[in-house]
Amino acid sequence: MWFVRDVPGIACAVSTWLLVLSGAGLLLVEQLWPAQDAAYGWAHGALSHLLAFLALAAHLRTMLTDPGALPEGSESSLGVTPRCPQCGAVPQPLAHHCFVCGRCIRRADHHCPWVNNCVGEDNRKYFVLFTLYTALAALHVLLLLAVPALRAYAQGLWDPHAPPRPRAPRVFLFFVALEGFLFATLMFAVQMHSICTDQSRRGSGGTTCSSVWMNLKDVLGHPASLAWMSPFVSPEPQRASGHHDVV
Ligand SMILES: [Zn+2]
Ligand SMILES: [Zn+2]
Repeated sequence: MWFVRDVPGIACAVSTWLLVLSGAGLLLVEQLWPAQDAAYGWAHGALSHLLAFLALAAHLRTMLTDPGALPEGSESSLGVTPRCPQCGAVPQPLAHHCFVCGRCIRRADHHCPWVNNCVGEDNRKYFVLFTLYTALAALHVLLLLAVPALRAYAQGLWDPHAPPRPRAPRVFLFFVALEGFLFATLMFAVQMHSICTDQSRRGSGGTTCSSVWMNLKDVLGHPASLAWMSPFVSPEPQRASGHHDVV
């Protein structure tokens, strides 16, 4: 099993889990339970926990999937062909050495401490899903917190002389959700832009619809299906028959 032994990265990954779990728990205790409305509580409780579950599943798969490490070189192979001076791998186009992972990674995008791994060829789908489900889970919390206040304001029930004094756990929940939403949305947008405009993939014809579609299938799997949204379905078998024979 792939696991990067990097103490700061492990600390960041654990804190990501703690933030998601505490957000889901606080939403239940601070917002859904006090509402005393069973339908409201069950519907939003189920949705928020489903999104948190999918985000954490995608996080685990990003962290524990080999991002595409090239085979390390042995002592005897040194000097035969050009090698990476750090890990001895035979260089490949688009592969870069990561000093945290200590390996050369195919299509290395960046090393993300929050998932304690490189984001590369073989775990990029899971990283995209992690940012997507985190952004959706955080947006759901923000809407649940904001809508009642906005409704009260619209109905003229808002008293400017007696502003509400939210309890500390609610303030914490709001800032965790806001930070999660901004950060995950930004990362998701950056990932989608970089995948869709990647000239080195099969859809190298610029940003036409068909080329964007080809690139998305390259990362998320062939053919386009609901499996794109599942952190439990690996895109690799489809990619192995579709992508590597072209590059
Ligand atoms: Zn290397
Ligand atoms: Zn790395």
